[in-house]
Amino acid sequence: MSDCLFCKFARHEIPTQVVYEDEHAFAFRDINPQAPTHILIIPREHIESLAAMQPEHEGLMGHLLWVCAEIARREGIADEGYRVVLNTNRAAGQSVYHLHLHLLGGRTMHWPPG
Ligand code: AMP
Ligand code: ZN
Repeated sequence: MSDCLFCKFARHEIPTQVVYEDEHAFAFRDINPQAPTHILIIPREHIESLAAMQPEHEGLMGHLLWVCAEIARREGIADEGYRVVLNTNRAAGQSVYHLHLHLLGGRTMHWPPG
């Protein structure tokens, strides 16, 4: 989708703090971090939300989780622990409608989430 901010990041049309990229995934630092490490992992393909996920996206979603785990190792937060969040649609507080996983770490997380 041409007017999508996250698509523009992934195409390098707008600069951002890139953490990782490959053929299918792109990751960058959140502009409003909620933890010492707060990275967003997105598919290059524009998928609006998890609610729009189709069977053909199963492999892609697995890949995005692998990217989360790999970035967590590189950032040095894997042993201590981290949280992966996927806000989906309005009630969950999704504000950008290009599917993204939040990778949060570097502090103790609480449960239940707000
Ligand atoms: P969500 O509320 O789950 O849709 O998450 C959207 C996330 O995108 C929020 O954590 C925002 O801080 C982040 N965000 C919004 N605009 C930007 C931007 N220009 N660069 C980096 N992160 C952004
Ligand atoms: Zn997009």
